[in-house]
Amino acid sequence: MDAALADAPVTAQQVLRSVFGYGDFRGQQQAIVEHVSGGGDALVLMPTGGGKSLCYQVPAIVRHARGQGVAVVVSPLIALMHDQVGALAELGVHAAFLNSTLEGEDARRVERELLAGRLVLLYAAPERILTPRFLAMLDSLHGRGRLSLFAIDEAHCVSQWGHDFREEYLGLSVLHERYAGVPRLALTATADAHTRADIRQRLQLQDARLFVASFDRPNIRYTIVEKDDARQQLLRFIRDEHEGPDGLDSGIVYCQTRRKVEETAAWLVAQGLPALPYHAGLDAGLRRRNQDRFLREEGLVMVATIAFGMGIDKPDVRFVAHLDLPKNIEGYYQETGRAGRDGLPANAWMAYGLADVVNQRRMIDDSEAEEDFKRLQRGKLDALLALAEAHDCRRVRLLAYFGEDESGTAGDPGSPIHAERPRGDANEASAGARCGNCGNCDNCLSPPATWDATEAARKALSCIYRFQQHSGFGFGAGHLIDVLRGKRTDKVLQRGHEQLSTFGIGADIAETAWRGVLRQLIALGHVRSVGEYNTLELAPGAREVLRGGVPIHLRVPAALPPRARKAGRGTLRAGSGKPPPLPLDDAGLARFAALKAWRAEIAREHNLPAYIVFHDATLAEMARERPATLDALAAVAGVGTKKLEAYGPEILRVLAPLA
Ligand code: ADP
Ligand code: ZN
Repeated sequence: MDAALADAPVTAQQVLRSVFGYGDFRGQQQAIVEHVSGGGDALVLMPTGGGKSLCYQVPAIVRHARGQGVAVVVSPLIALMHDQVGALAELGVHAAFLNSTLEGEDARRVERELLAGRLVLLYAAPERILTPRFLAMLDSLHGRGRLSLFAIDEAHCVSQWGHDFREEYLGLSVLHERYAGVPRLALTATADAHTRADIRQRLQLQDARLFVASFDRPNIRYTIVEKDDARQQLLRFIRDEHEGPDGLDSGIVYCQTRRKVEETAAWLVAQGLPALPYHAGLDAGLRRRNQDRFLREEGLVMVATIAFGMGIDKPDVRFVAHLDLPKNIEGYYQETGRAGRDGLPANAWMAYGLADVVNQRRMIDDSEAEEDFKRLQRGKLDALLALAEAHDCRRVRLLAYFGEDESGTAGDPGSPIHAERPRGDANEASAGARCGNCGNCDNCLSPPATWDATEAARKALSCIYRFQQHSGFGFGAGHLIDVLRGKRTDKVLQRGHEQLSTFGIGADIAETAWRGVLRQLIALGHVRSVGEYNTLELAPGAREVLRGGVPIHLRVPAALPPRARKAGRGTLRAGSGKPPPLPLDDAGLARFAALKAWRAEIAREHNLPAYIVFHDATLAEMARERPATLDALAAVAGVGTKKLEAYGPEILRVLAPLA
């Protein structure tokens, strides 16, 4: 055990304070830590950014200090292992990793330390754990009572239902069979009942206690806009919300395809924004370099497919933007959850349009999967579309989605989803979410105007019906809108569609509004888009709409009446540009800037991301509190014993002239 714990404070609370420098556990952390430190098994569901790492790191430290040996952390993510071991070293906790990046002698050294019982935590990839060599080492430790716990991170990888399925995870049931009695903790941010049941069964965690944290992330502002010119919209969003006098915020832009990733990144660079591409088709070296740069440097935009993100625990990602619709709410929530892990204000922004709806539906229809699976995927897509089309609070809908999954599960009685809220200062917003106004999503901040599109929807459906009758086949959205608006295009004349009774019946409605109507009809499943040309067909549900039995209300497209949609803007970031994480006066800002400059130097020297040295929030609190002594500095959240010792005097020196 290292210096920080020389006096062996072994309660969880003491570890939290002295090692991590935090005053309080968040939400369920304390219960989890106590349960696991005491030798219990647990299944932990917590949203991204909820604070899962602490749930096994604290028990690992507590149990090691009691002489119970090393905690083995199973993780599929090499970058994450690397960063966590680096961060733990900064905290004075002896940890190491074993994965494919570690060569002969280095790996041998880690193994020696492991066997000697010196390590507090060992991170390893699942395929490594399952090797005979590794299992033999575990046997040896176990025989001597030196195996303190297993933490299985990203436990949803064991489920074939998710897109992160990893074959090797299935082998992890061996841990229970071989080392019964060693506590096991499985953690994931994927909350659905299916995945959870798989984890319990495949990892043999049937008896593990379930902990479900609130999935609310009150510091994230959700905004979903209709696509018009998506890139320009994205650029405006970044410039308005995330660019300031001291540069750009870090952010992630998700696109669906590799090509779009590359095009978007190149376009942003051409607009003067520092953007990097990331997708599975890039050369491995370049991919790693881009990822390292994103983690280490400030103010970069990562444009990526969903290949990027799992295990990226950079806490100061200030925005996550989606240029394409994700597959489902789980994906959306996991991706947007990568914003604002530090608890400071962050944006989740998405642009979506008719083509997204058509594409996602098509991808499901065209896939080779079983019909059951497709039905499940369609249901999930519908839920996401309902979220995107909603005029009411997005947060309420998101939480309800996860809550429904929760109540649908047998065998987990009374797990208190939403019973607690993870972050202090934003509690009000989160409390409000439960009565329908979270105060921190686009719809709550600026309630959208809606129009009654029932009549328009009926007109569109009749026109689709007439096409079928008149020509014997269907047409795409563009042509349909031309006919409805009474445009005599070549195609209209060629087909004789100017003679249809539906020709021109919707001339009073703008094209963007028509697109909204069609998007809604497809989203609701009344219309299907089929074939190579995306021709529109009536679905069985259309009959009810045609009869006028289904009222359809749409938000007024932003482009139609130029409404001031600015109301909500700027409240997150008062004035223009990037504010510090806490309100600071001018002198405070100067101290904050000086501390950041100092941190950048240290980070460079130690070859670590800046946030591993200290989070922005910690520096901001130092700038506000102006500690003049080491004792005062120790009271700042995020300053533990080891960092106080290593950096305390320097920080006081940086602050002294600016007091
Ligand atoms: P997850 O793995 O669940 O996505 P992390 O473990 O990376 O989340 O934690 C997210 C952030 O919250 C980290 O920066 C971590 O330092 C911080 N954090 C976690 N628990 C606490 C706590 N009790 N007090 C203050 N900060 C915390
Ligand atoms: Zn809301």
